[in-house]
Formats: sequence, structure tokens, C-alpha cells
Amino acid sequence: MSEPVHPCLTCGACCRNYRVEFSIYELQSMGGTVPDAMAHEVGGNRARMNGTERHPVRCMALTDLPHLGEGCMGCGIYEQRSRTCRDFPFAAYGCHDTRAKFGLPQLSEDDVEQWPEAA
Ligand code: SF4
Ligand code: SF4
Repeated sequence: MSEPVHPCLTCGACCRNYRVEFSIYELQSMGGTVPDAMAHEVGGNRARMNGTERHPVRCMALTDLPHLGEGCMGCGIYEQRSRTCRDFPFAAYGCHDTRAKFGLPQLSEDDVEQWPEAA
């Protein structure tokens, strides 16, 4: 039997739903971790992930992961992602609501128990 896949990796809905903004000080050029080429400045010392400024939204860092299964995807800069992304709570209201908007099934209690954090 194949290994269970984290629900985020068959979802990616939050990375396809929100304008993802964060402090410009999180950009690599400012001493942070987010690659500058993946974001643009929007004023007020804020930057936004490319692809989240338009509709349909899709953060340019969201990467297809076909080796994990059909339709799988994940953050291509997971370790370098902004605080905004790190703070997005898996299995909280925004997560449930966004999954529902994309027609994805509700997370089960097992999912939540097995995976305490987003992937
Ligand atoms: S945090 Fe929620 S909405 Fe975002 S990818 Fe994971 S399951 Fe989907
Ligand atoms: S940087 Fe990664 S976690 Fe954040 S919105 Fe983009 S793909 Fe999603």
C-alpha cells in the first residue's frame, strides 16, 4: 500500500485563494528568506507573492508534485516561505473554508490527528 499523503499535498487551495503579502524584510535581498524573483513590492513596506495578485490566483511557488500522485502539489519554497504562509493554520476555519470553496472534501478527524501542521 502506498504511504498516506498529507492533505495539503492534494489541496494547495490556500495558495490558490489569497493575496499572499508579507513584510519586504522577508525578501532575501533584505536579509530574509523569500526569493526576490518570486515576489513584487506593493508599497507600505509590503511584498506579495507573484501570481497571487490576479485571478485565478496561483502562487508561483506552488509546484506540481506528480511523483506523489495525480494532482499533488506543494510549496516549492517551503523552508523559505514567508511568515504569512507559515502562520496559515492547517485545519482551522480558513483552511476548511478554502477547501470547501475549491470543492475539496472536509478534513477528517483522522487527518487532523495524524497531521498537526500544514505541509
Ligand atoms: S492548509 Fe488547508 S487549505 Fe492550505 S493546502 Fe493545507 S489543507 Fe489546503
Ligand atoms: S509561498 Fe508556498 S505556502 Fe506560500 S502561498 Fe506560495 S506556494 Fe503557498
